[in-house]
Amino acid sequence: MLTYHQRTALVTGAGRGIGKAIAETLARQGVTVICVSKSADSCGATAAALIAAGGKAKALAVDVADGAAIAQAAESLLAEFPKIDILVNNAGITRDGLLFRMSDADWNDVIATNLSSCFHWTKYLARPMTRARWGRIVNITSVSGIMGNAGQANYSAAKAGMIGLTKTLAREFAGRSVTVNAVAPGFIKTDMTTEFVNQPEIAAKVLEAVPLKRFGEAADVANLAAYLCSEEAGYITGQVFAVDGGMAM
Ligand code: NAP
Repeated sequence: MLTYHQRTALVTGAGRGIGKAIAETLARQGVTVICVSKSADSCGATAAALIAAGGKAKALAVDVADGAAIAQAAESLLAEFPKIDILVNNAGITRDGLLFRMSDADWNDVIATNLSSCFHWTKYLARPMTRARWGRIVNITSVSGIMGNAGQANYSAAKAGMIGLTKTLAREFAGRSVTVNAVAPGFIKTDMTTEFVNQPEIAAKVLEAVPLKRFGEAADVANLAAYLCSEEAGYITGQVFAVDGGMAM
């Protein structure tokens, strides 16, 4: 049993997939979860399900690619909640293509959504954590940010950037007992991966690179993320943990 002391968490990309699983896992532990996603329907459905299951949750539609929208959302949240103790930067998109065919828009959208969003959320929510001398920040990166992946220059750069951000902020906030860690999923069954998970030939090819020879579940990532948000993980900071069936070892 892990300890959470009635904390409040904000999870981005909580409408679906890994973010939803993280929100569910934290809510089951008594954490109040602010569920952020792009569409109000998506985060609204997650928050309603958490509440229906006996948890505490709030839905908030924010386009995390928009720094000004994050600033506004953070300001109103910090007026409503006495403190937000846990931040999980999970929202992400892919816009894959080989470099010579990658448009500026595909580059900029992925950097803004996957990387700049972490800068903006952390800038606003980490200050009260440092004042309270307790906080947990978990950034959901990817094995693509560790190994690189042909066709994902934008995504790999954003995810590698999250790792640099994680290590730097871990050093900046360590004196205030705010930990910052990254989780790097491999191939996890979510909407992001349906196009190859559900095609047997492509799936078999992809799994050649996975020692455990299967795709991961969103819960596999959520369990580690939730642990890193717990009281018990207080001596772990600046680390990157792969949840990838052994792919990036
Ligand atoms: P997913 O099923 O596609 O869900 C993505 C979530 O992010 C959705 O809730 C979506 O909101 C939200 N989101 C996307 N753009 C947003 C924006 N501009 N503003 C606010 N919210 C936004 O993705 P997933 O597979 O769970 O991936 C979650 C994270 O894990 C991502 O960062 C991804 O890069 C990373 N990851 C995934 C895998 C994998 O195999 N699945 C592997 C490595 C890393 P809506 O619901 O409103 O659309």
